[in-house]
Amino acid sequence: MKMLLNGQWVDRDKKIDVIDPFDNSVIDTVPAGNDKDVELALSSAVQGFQITKRMTVYDRAQILYKAAGLISERLEEFATIIAREGSKTINEARKEASRCVNTITCSAEEAKRILGETIPWDSFPGGEKRKGFYYRFPIGVVLAITPFNDPLNLVAHKLGPAIAAGNSVILKPATVTPLSAIKLVEVLLEAGLPENAIQVITGYGSKIGDPLVSDERVRMISFTGGVEAGKHIASKAGIKKIGMELGSDSPVIVWKDADMQLAVESCVSGSFWAAGQNCIGVQRLLVHKEIYDEFKTKFVELTKTYKIGDKLKEDTMMGPMITENEAKRIEQWVNDAVAGGAKLLTGGKRDGAMYDPTVLENVPADAKVHYEEVFAPTVNLYQVDDLDKAIAQANALPYGLLAGIFTRDLETAFKAAYELDCGGVMINDSTDYRLDSMPFGGVKYSGLGREGLKFSLQEMTEPKVVCFNLPGI
Ligand code: NAP
Repeated sequence: MKMLLNGQWVDRDKKIDVIDPFDNSVIDTVPAGNDKDVELALSSAVQGFQITKRMTVYDRAQILYKAAGLISERLEEFATIIAREGSKTINEARKEASRCVNTITCSAEEAKRILGETIPWDSFPGGEKRKGFYYRFPIGVVLAITPFNDPLNLVAHKLGPAIAAGNSVILKPATVTPLSAIKLVEVLLEAGLPENAIQVITGYGSKIGDPLVSDERVRMISFTGGVEAGKHIASKAGIKKIGMELGSDSPVIVWKDADMQLAVESCVSGSFWAAGQNCIGVQRLLVHKEIYDEFKTKFVELTKTYKIGDKLKEDTMMGPMITENEAKRIEQWVNDAVAGGAKLLTGGKRDGAMYDPTVLENVPADAKVHYEEVFAPTVNLYQVDDLDKAIAQANALPYGLLAGIFTRDLETAFKAAYELDCGGVMINDSTDYRLDSMPFGGVKYSGLGREGLKFSLQEMTEPKVVCFNLPGI
């Protein structure tokens, strides 16, 4: 596939292979963008903004509605690309593709709700003769940088609201999974998006990242990815708006009055969805000691039923990690934890990029699987017996995206909801539950700002005040 610069699909001699991590086959190639491509993307996006900022809300919304319809018609095609270039099974990929339809549709709906307000100028002496209001105007060129793990829907979470807001966009998708993103852009153009409204530049973030991020023509960076890249980008960005959706180490408390079956099934699915490469994937399960043994037995039993393998087979429940190196990383982290005293309850085996669903207990506090984001199909069980301590334990690490609690008691649920430090608390769900239109984002190292279409639109627009001085009235 090619890059989209200045309205043209362009290729370069230097290419990057896009590899299916299941069998290492080369699915396609994309050009390795260079500094000249960065400049072309930036200058074209500036021109594009002159067009997009004058488009009516109706036109922006119609393009998005049409694009959503086209994705819906081609759902299986999108799902197959997601499954092939990434880690997801075909069933996980279908879910992502249908969520993308919702994300783009909600972006169109939210375009119609970019509202302003009148201002009570006469609320302070001297303002009696003034009338006016504020409205929200598009921010300008948005640089969207996206990760590999939801290669379609997380791109839609940036392109949808950016277009709805009237911005132009430069998209830099993850190098390992650029194809779903490019396909989405093809559909947006087919739906009528003006050509310079969007640029897609492929290539390594470590090479083309700095000149894009630091350029003053970019007015907002919307980044989803890891904390290390996030810190680097923030250090280079200069004075511009930054939205950051970063990692986590999602804690879920399973209290003594939990619905056991519900908790086990949700937490197993939440731990191993997309081979655990999920920013809201369950990493730490804090289980009440009175139900710990029963929960552990059922959790491990269900984990052992997971069928892993070929992503395109209908009955496969979990695919490979994104690369063999990533699987080797988690293998090392688990081995280190076991050497430090953790007990392996199931899993722990690697075959190429495939890493078995893995459950650990007695994990020492100095093990990376405890204090780093694992981003892999491995989960830790901890025994707890006091709610305050469980909440303190959940809050102890430097992330805070989503947290969860399973309980039937309202007071327990409310206490957890108010005291867990994070962007959202799921009650009787694992952390792996997200509605695309809810405010989504984290505290601490999990991010800055919120996505979720209405909220992304707030971030991607700015208020402008209009004040009339009318001495004659
Ligand atoms: P990553 O390595 O941080 O990469 C994310 C994106 O940033 C890629 O497009 C990457 O390009 C680019 N990038 C890397 N270095 C850059 C630089 N110096 N300048 C500009 N761009 C740069 O993350 P990943 O491995 O793809 O994704 C996993 C991480 O994303 C996890 O930490 C996960 O928790 C997080 N995530 C968060 C959310 C959320 O909503 N909070 C959702 C999904 C994932 P290359 O691919 O070319 O390196």
